Amino acid sequence: MLDKSRLRIAMQKSGRLSDESQKLFASCGIKINLQQQRLIAFAENMPIDILRVRDDDIPGLVMDGVVDLGIIGENVLEEELLSRRAQGEDPRYTTLRRLDFGGCRLSLAMPLDAEYTGPQCLQNSRIATSYPHLLKRYLDEQKVRFKSCLLNGSVEVAPRAGLADAICDLVSTGATLEANGLREVDVIYRSKATLIQRDGEISDEKQELINKLLTRMQGVIQARE
Ligand code: ATP
Ligand code: ZN
Repeated sequence: MLDKSRLRIAMQKSGRLSDESQKLFASCGIKINLQQQRLIAFAENMPIDILRVRDDDIPGLVMDGVVDLGIIGENVLEEELLSRRAQGEDPRYTTLRRLDFGGCRLSLAMPLDAEYTGPQCLQNSRIATSYPHLLKRYLDEQKVRFKSCLLNGSVEVAPRAGLADAICDLVSTGATLEANGLREVDVIYRSKATLIQRDGEISDEKQELINKLLTRMQGVIQARE
């Protein structure tokens, strides 16, 4: 088992959040040797262990109290929160700081020739997405009935493949949408990476270390603004 006295932080192993998360740790003075393929990296100069996992696992690891901190996209965090609530759980965590990277939006997109004048145009449609709970929250508010088609990848090909009338997917530049003959019609959620802490008891030593890291992060992020 891991040493519980050391602060455990989960970050994405490889993907859009990994480089910036790693840079943030480095700029806070955490010395880590991130060898490829290693699940856990031990900081050399502070009692910190870095757990490197799929981003989708990070909210659950924090909510289940398996790690102390995690860096995660708000889109994934919020989807997990809604999903757990739908299953009758009451997941807890604290947001320590919204970060200045990982910006993207969760948007509705439709084929170029489809008409869209508002969410009502999606009445009784089928929508492909990896974010069924965020989508449902938005369309429920708009009183739009729809069916979702859950895809965890290749969402943007669903309309062309005849699987769905529209999609709800992450967008940053819109190039992927365009390449698939789709157009962004509505933004349903704006996301950035965020640093979260687990709920529950934490030792004074760990809390002091967290406070020290937060102060450093504050400085680093302000300097970048
Ligand atoms: P993993 O293998 O860890 O599951 P992934 O393929 O699910 O990775 P990435 O594509 O690396 O995830 O995206 C991770 C996060 O980066 C997203 O959940 C989102 O918060 C953020 N992000 C920023 N810009 C984009 C973008 N253009 N497309 C997708 N995600 C983006
Ligand atoms: Zn993922």
